Amino acid sequence: MTTTTDLPLLFLGQGADPASERGVDCPGDLPAASDPALVERARAAKAALGDSVFILGHHYQRDEVIQFADVTGDSFKLARDAAARPDAPHIVFCGVHFMAESADILTTAEQKVILPDLAAGCSMADMATFDQVEDCWDALADAGIADRVVPVTYMNSSADIKGFVGRRGGVVCTSSNAKRALDWAFARGEQVLFLPDQHLGRNTAVLEMGMTLEDCVVYNPRRPNGGLTVEQLRNAKMILWQGHCSVHGRFTRASVEEVRARVPGVNVLVHPECRHDVVTGADYVGSTEYIIRALEAAEPGSAWAIGTELNLVKRLANAHPDKNVMFLDKAVCFCSTMNRIDLPHLVWALESLVRGEVPNQITVDADTAHYARVALDQMLALP
Ligand code: SF4
Repeated sequence: MTTTTDLPLLFLGQGADPASERGVDCPGDLPAASDPALVERARAAKAALGDSVFILGHHYQRDEVIQFADVTGDSFKLARDAAARPDAPHIVFCGVHFMAESADILTTAEQKVILPDLAAGCSMADMATFDQVEDCWDALADAGIADRVVPVTYMNSSADIKGFVGRRGGVVCTSSNAKRALDWAFARGEQVLFLPDQHLGRNTAVLEMGMTLEDCVVYNPRRPNGGLTVEQLRNAKMILWQGHCSVHGRFTRASVEEVRARVPGVNVLVHPECRHDVVTGADYVGSTEYIIRALEAAEPGSAWAIGTELNLVKRLANAHPDKNVMFLDKAVCFCSTMNRIDLPHLVWALESLVRGEVPNQITVDADTAHYARVALDQMLALP
């Protein structure tokens, strides 16, 4: 029956846990962060590599890294951007581990995907391990419902989980197409197992598909049977995995009310990884790409409180000096794992490539990659 798979407690960048998205060693001999020549060294290494390297920068990365990105975007856009550059033998992914895995799955066998710091994992992706999800599926089978459940996994999951979903006829989704993915899934089954972000699953089901909160149950992988009765499993439309983003999950309804009281007329715009009561208290909800476009279209002089990662909000504030762009909650911090990728790690990765060494290559085994690609291709084929 359900087993508990405790993750070992590791300090970031120390110790090794290859099964985890976080806390693994980065073996690099890094330049000092205080080296005043870092920017020049990154520039020189990038110039020396020319078209042989393609640098991807996720929206949540630091400015010091983003300045060297050839393209920026969310995780799925970046993986597709990498696939569109088969001529580049080296893809340096300034993002987190599951994103580099997706890029490896979508690029050619000859291309090598590099993550400048192996400690850049994702706590949300870590909340659903392969063994836990297999145990969950066993619980669904014991409840007699496995054949009517369609698994759907958010892009923010490991390649193992995407492969699991692909093997069982499911689909990957992003925060932009979650409703279309759920429409597709409910056309094929009566229930959905949504991995690993409970908030995206709940917000999409309730706010975009007319379900109720009672139609959703939360499966806790650390409890027998997910902490649910067989009856609860059978009656739920949405079986939500108990996972969340460590950044977006911190915004609170109180922060929405506080900013409304402080800034009359403010527009509250949040990411769907935020909790349900935060999203229902906001004026707008959407993916990082949606948030960027909303700010571009906003009236000069308008005020915006944004509930997403702080690096992106800071860049939006700088890009729109004619608008009053602010962070929704002062207590919410950067994504600590995204921020593992800093200029010293980027310089080290690029200079290693110049020397002919390939550092921190991320590879997904062929079988997992095949089935993960099945689930990713299904997403691309969504009507
Ligand atoms: S912002 Fe959240 S979902 Fe994105 S990498 Fe960080 S922990 Fe993971």
